[in-house]
Amino acid sequence: MQPAATGALIGIDIGGTKTLGVTLSNTGEVLGKSFEPTREGLDIASHAVEMYHALREKASESGASVSSLGIGIAGLVDVSGRLHRAPNLVNADGLEICQLVESEIDVPVHVDNDVNCAALAEIYSGAARGVQNALLVTLGTGIGGALIVDGAVHRGAFGMAGEPGHMVIEPNGVLCACGMNGCWEAYASAAGLRNLAIRRAEDGYLEEISETVQGDLGGITSEDVTRTANQGDKQSLAVVDEFARWVAVGLANCAALLDPEMIIVGGGLVADWHLFGQKIDDSFHELLLASGQRSFIPIKPTENGEVAGALGACLLGRTQ
Ligand SMILES: [Zn+2]
Repeated sequence: MQPAATGALIGIDIGGTKTLGVTLSNTGEVLGKSFEPTREGLDIASHAVEMYHALREKASESGASVSSLGIGIAGLVDVSGRLHRAPNLVNADGLEICQLVESEIDVPVHVDNDVNCAALAEIYSGAARGVQNALLVTLGTGIGGALIVDGAVHRGAFGMAGEPGHMVIEPNGVLCACGMNGCWEAYASAAGLRNLAIRRAEDGYLEEISETVQGDLGGITSEDVTRTANQGDKQSLAVVDEFARWVAVGLANCAALLDPEMIIVGGGLVADWHLFGQKIDDSFHELLLASGQRSFIPIKPTENGEVAGALGACLLGRTQ
C-alpha cells in the first residue's frame, strides 16, 4: 500500500522527551528525518512549524512538493486538534496545537494522539497490515493505546479513545502519574516496573540493585531491573515475572471488551521482550475468558520502531 498520488507528506511525532519529523514521498520513500529534544508550552507549536519548514526545504531539493503536515502528540487530543491533557509534556495542557500550526503554514494540518499515529503506521507497513481489529499498547514511561476497528484507528466520540493505561485495576492501589490510584499504568509500564522493584527491595529482596543505589530505594529505575534480569539475577527475574502478570491483566481486560484479532505491543520496554514476552503471553491466555474455546489472539511487538509515530503522522494527511 502506498500513499495517494498527492505531494509528499510530513509527519512530526511530539513525545515527552524527543520530537521526530519524517517526510514521506508519494511513492512511500522517506525523503528526510529530523530528531530534536521536545520543547515546552507554546514553543511546542513553533518548533513544529520550524521543523516543517526545514523538512519541506529538504524535500524541495529532491523536487517534491509537500501537501500536508500531520502531528502526533503524546496526550489527549480531540478531533479539532486541541490538546486537552498531556502529563508528559511541559505546560502543554489546553494547547490549540492544530490551530497554532495551521495559522503559520500553507498546507492542511492534522493532529492525533501519538499512539494512534503509531497504529496507522502499523496498519500501513507493520504488524497490523491487513488486520481489521487489533489493539496497540505501548509500554514506555507510561502506557499508551490505540484501537484498530474495521481496519481503521477508532478515535471515539471526541477523539480520545484508547487510553487503557488509566483503567483502574486496583482501586486502593499505588498512585499513578495522573493522580488516581491503581491505574494499570502504575503496574505495567516502566514506572510500574520501578514501583514493583521498590516494593520488592523494601521487603528485603533485590540485594544487588539495593547495593547499586546504596540503599536509596527511591533511586531504583526500571533499567536497573532489566539490566540485572538480563544478567540472570533470579530476584530481578521474579520482579519481571510479576510485571509480566500485571501487563497480562490489563491486556486480558482489553481483549474481553474488544475481541481483537491480535495485540501489538510497542514502546521502550519492547527492547526487553525476550525477558517477559512469553510470560505475558502465558498469563494473558490464562486470564482471557474462554481462552481454550475462542480463536487464538497473538501478542506481537510493533515493527516500525521509534519512527512509527512520525510515519503514522504523515499518513494522517492521506486518511483525513
Ligand atoms: Zn492513571
